[in-house]
Amino acid sequence: MKKMGPYPPYYKANDGQIIISGRSVESIVKEAGSTPLFIYSREILSKKMDELRDAMPESLDIHYAMKANSYKPVLEHMNTLVDGFDLASGGELDLAIEAGVDPHNMSFAGPGKRDAELEKAIKAGVTLNVESPTEADRMIAIAARLGMKAKAALRVNPSFDLKGSGMKMGGGAKQFGMDEELIAPTAKKIIESGNIWCGFHIYAGSQSLSAEAIIETQSNTFELAARLANEIGIAPEKVNLGGGFGIPYFPKETPIDINAIGAAMDEILSDLPSILQNTKFCIELGRYLVGEAGIYVTTIVDRKISHEETFLVVDGGLHHQLAASGNFGTVIRRNYPIAVAHKFDENGYKEEKSEIVNVVGCLCTPLDMLGDKVLLPETYVGDAIILFCAGAYGASASPSNFLGHGQAIETLI
Ligand SMILES: *Cc1c(COP(=O)(O)O)cnc(C)c1O
Repeated sequence: MKKMGPYPPYYKANDGQIIISGRSVESIVKEAGSTPLFIYSREILSKKMDELRDAMPESLDIHYAMKANSYKPVLEHMNTLVDGFDLASGGELDLAIEAGVDPHNMSFAGPGKRDAELEKAIKAGVTLNVESPTEADRMIAIAARLGMKAKAALRVNPSFDLKGSGMKMGGGAKQFGMDEELIAPTAKKIIESGNIWCGFHIYAGSQSLSAEAIIETQSNTFELAARLANEIGIAPEKVNLGGGFGIPYFPKETPIDINAIGAAMDEILSDLPSILQNTKFCIELGRYLVGEAGIYVTTIVDRKISHEETFLVVDGGLHHQLAASGNFGTVIRRNYPIAVAHKFDENGYKEEKSEIVNVVGCLCTPLDMLGDKVLLPETYVGDAIILFCAGAYGASASPSNFLGHGQAIETLI
């Protein structure tokens, strides 16, 4: 048997049925029509934000990095909760506008922004997180052609990274942002061209569960922002401190201590260097806000034995939940939390006939493994199997065209 990750603490059982926003998965599936199905919970999204607001300093803005989940109803709900949206493509800009997000609360990061994307962002009034001196030049030229002023923050490639993070996005040679010594000259160029310099975007990494590592990175980030601002000689209006708050996906992982992070940030904010006294700070989070608020529901299509191992073949797979199959930025494949929809208990469902099974998707590749030798209650064809932690980088980050099974249905309850 191999262990699975912990169940997110937001799901309760009623008579063995897993309950989401007061409803059984069975009834939600019935209403949606079929599986595979992503169910996102409005209630959990709001709860996560409430918990975070309670822990963080009041003056801190919280932004949503929409690449984690760009399902329109989720965007609309997040728009009622957060202070800003961070996007990373012209397509995401369209989606955010369609969801009713005010472009003045959007910032647009990402390497390789095309001219048409820069133009669209400038026209809409979106803050561009400029990733290179040449991107700054293109932005300046486009703004001049349009007769408009671009709003530009500079993305810094910090010389430090976020220790222990799942994906490092700073430290050393990177395609993101500008090395520190390029920041001041580029800021000056933007200011001299008559465009609006808004501040810095400093993002060091993703998926950290260590408050200590995040606190250290944030402290470095404040220091770096002050040093760069002093070099430019002008106070930045806003500094995006990045994020990197992770969620537990795998065995032995525990939730990040957001209260410790909030307390450390309170301390820094109460004693800021003079150049940052009037600066607004924000963090940008994706998976922390939405990851645990979503589950992926599949149905068992076949049950078979091979070399004494039981395989449950479900109607979903890595084409919707690439990360759970271990093929999205993980080195060693480990099991996401997984359960049977009508035999659930938040402390682990126990029955005599529990068995060790492999839960596999329906794709014709051995990569399509969703549960590797996991202990589950006895199941039959037609039963629903649930993968947790499916609210972030599921539908938005999986190859849904692969093998032609089509997209999963998504619903917000
Ligand atoms: C992807 C990304 C995020 C969100 O990362 P999470 O791990 O989902 O919190 C935030 N900022 C930037 C710049 C990103 O590229």
